[in-house]
Amino acid sequence: MPPPAFDLTVLAPDHSLLEGRVRSLVAPGADGYFGVLARHAPMVAQLGAGALTVTGEDGAEEYFAISQGFLEVEPDEVTILADTAEAAAGIDVERARAAEGRARQRMRSRDRDLDVARAEAALQRALARLQVAERSGAAGGRTTG
Ligand code: ATP
Repeated sequence: MPPPAFDLTVLAPDHSLLEGRVRSLVAPGADGYFGVLARHAPMVAQLGAGALTVTGEDGAEEYFAISQGFLEVEPDEVTILADTAEAAAGIDVERARAAEGRARQRMRSRDRDLDVARAEAALQRALARLQVAERSGAAGGRTTG
């Protein structure tokens, strides 16, 4: 018998990144990473910034960079609605590196008007994108799409 699976939908505000049956996922919760398998109890979780790992029915892993939003578990169905989400192949590595550099520079600047939470959130988004690109083997070059 094949391992149990469930329907997963991953949505960014203006488009859908994934709709299909999967075996499991590991998501970046606001308080740390957590996993979801088939038959998980219904719940709603707040997401942070990080790598979403999805294991498909065939056992192959796919990676997405996501930030903020919510994950909802319903019977046989999980929906992720993220503020930003990119599939690994859609990550522009140079852009993420530049965003990381800007965020680090801002945090070093000691500017009294600095919005620390905003700079930290930008840094976390950039690091999530770089981590996902690295994991999928795209960090050596520049990929878009
Ligand atoms: P930047 O300063 O480079 O715009 P950011 O973290 O401020 O980065 P966001 O506000 O998180 O950008 O995202 C704005 C839009 O751009 C979203 O649709 C997001 O998916 C996309 N995006 C941001 N950075 C990248 C990237 N490195 N590769 C691909 N898409 C990206």
